[in-house]
Amino acid sequence: MYRGRFAPTPSGPLHFGSLVAALGSFLRARNQQGEWHLRIEDIDETRCRQEYTDSILRDLETLGLFWDGVPLIQSQRHEIYREVLDNLNRQGYTYGCNCTRNLIKLNGGRHPASCRLENLPWEKGAGIRYKSSSSVTGFTDLIRGFLSRTDFPAENDFLLKRRDCYFTYNLVSVIDDHETGITEIVRGADLIPDTFGQLELARTLGYPEITYASLPLALSESGSKYSKQNHAPGLDLLSPVRLLLKAAVFLGQEYPSEISAASDDLTVSEFLKYAVRHFDITKVPVLSRKVPV
Ligand code: GLU
Repeated sequence: MYRGRFAPTPSGPLHFGSLVAALGSFLRARNQQGEWHLRIEDIDETRCRQEYTDSILRDLETLGLFWDGVPLIQSQRHEIYREVLDNLNRQGYTYGCNCTRNLIKLNGGRHPASCRLENLPWEKGAGIRYKSSSSVTGFTDLIRGFLSRTDFPAENDFLLKRRDCYFTYNLVSVIDDHETGITEIVRGADLIPDTFGQLELARTLGYPEITYASLPLALSESGSKYSKQNHAPGLDLLSPVRLLLKAAVFLGQEYPSEISAASDDLTVSEFLKYAVRHFDITKVPVLSRKVPV
């Protein structure tokens, strides 16, 4: 059974960039007669707010993007993450790191290998890094074909837990994707650099491999991706079908004029029914593009 998911971070409202990821993963899952799950990635409580979780759920419902089961809330799963991390620590896959942000900045933005060499113990107040063997040199993306690690530089020894005690996205997303039985991950191409490390960590944890499909990113007029950090505007939900159509067209889907011209007369469920049936992942473009919103 196909199981997909959408995993928004509630650090701001849903914006056009996250709508593209939501719709792409939804259309793919439903087209495969699969389930589509929702995960609220609110592990970093300094950035996330309940009001954004509420508004994301509300917007998804207005857009007719209904999920299966109950949303998984990461902030309620600390015990599970701790247990997996304790096991990794015991098995020698990690080391303590007390590098400050400033030190990393002075080292050209990369973590200096010194604490790995010192094999610092995991102690209170220290971060915990994954001891990577860089064993995943590439993976085959459903939309992009084979992607090589060397083309997407990212920290090999990525953090699993930060010094301020928060578990990291890379740790918890790998655990949750496995525990919820996700079979394929459809998400923005900005996460390709993280995927190599996530695949390696999943392998270390003995999880079966998941397939990936990386969607193009919607860029603002200035060429930066719509993101909560860039204060992307929230969605104008006055014409939800028009919005869905715009996101689907951005994903390379083509519709006959009786669908595209009738967007004001269709309900979201009528539009989505059609879009699911005709969703074609081979039409999804690779390149990110500017989309005025
Ligand atoms: N939470 C991430 C975001 O909002 C997505 C993570 C993922 O899909 O793995 O960008």
